[in-house]
Amino acid sequence: CGIVGYIGLSDVKEILLKGLEKLEYRGYDSAGIAVRNDAGIHVFKEKGRIADLRQVVDSNVEATTGIGHTRWATHGVPNYTNSHPHQSASKRFTIVHNGVIENYHLLQDQFLPNITMQSDTDTEVIVQLVEHFSNEGMTTETAFCHTLSLLEGSYAIGLIDAENEDTIFVAKNKSPLLVGVGEGFNVIASDAMAMLNETNQFIELHDQEVVLVKANEVQIKKIDGTLIERAPYKAELDL
Ligand code: GLU
Repeated sequence: CGIVGYIGLSDVKEILLKGLEKLEYRGYDSAGIAVRNDAGIHVFKEKGRIADLRQVVDSNVEATTGIGHTRWATHGVPNYTNSHPHQSASKRFTIVHNGVIENYHLLQDQFLPNITMQSDTDTEVIVQLVEHFSNEGMTTETAFCHTLSLLEGSYAIGLIDAENEDTIFVAKNKSPLLVGVGEGFNVIASDAMAMLNETNQFIELHDQEVVLVKANEVQIKKIDGTLIERAPYKAELDL
């Protein structure tokens, strides 16, 4: 399973699909991408191979921001509905997640008793919580941080907001995730190999950091909001 993401200059569909293909070796049962443009967020997903996902991606949709996922099902059978990306009730927020949220039932009971879940995944709780706290008046960044502080388990997360065009919200805990740095664009990936076509400059992320990935900037913060400086390293891998 794996995650990719891109924000910046170029049309994102092929970058995401190629990146997901590079992650196929990790194993998966479903795959999907979400791309964001001025018309909103468009989700394409499918049970099966990346080749099957390619068939359902609308080549007419152009976008320069997006996230992608290969799923290894832990909660909910492998099918279209349980495939990532997952969206919040209003569809404002869209997420990809690798890992397992151990307390998702408790969080659902405590904060989301009136939300009808669309999938059987633990993941959906994360994106519904972000919307829940956003509806209570928090900014997306604060709602994301607050949600992370409630999660128990493992995660690599990429989240996009239909109302915030310039950021992919990113975090990890006990699951791998890197940021790749480009000129005029930035990327995320579970494995540097997935994005070596785009860049060989990567920044390591640590558990429980909150990362705002924008086209021209990467902000890494501690969960309390303190900014962290971390230089990229050069990934020396054969393509
Ligand atoms: N637990 C999540 C699910 O079953 C994510 C699985 C994964 O890591 O791909 O959908």
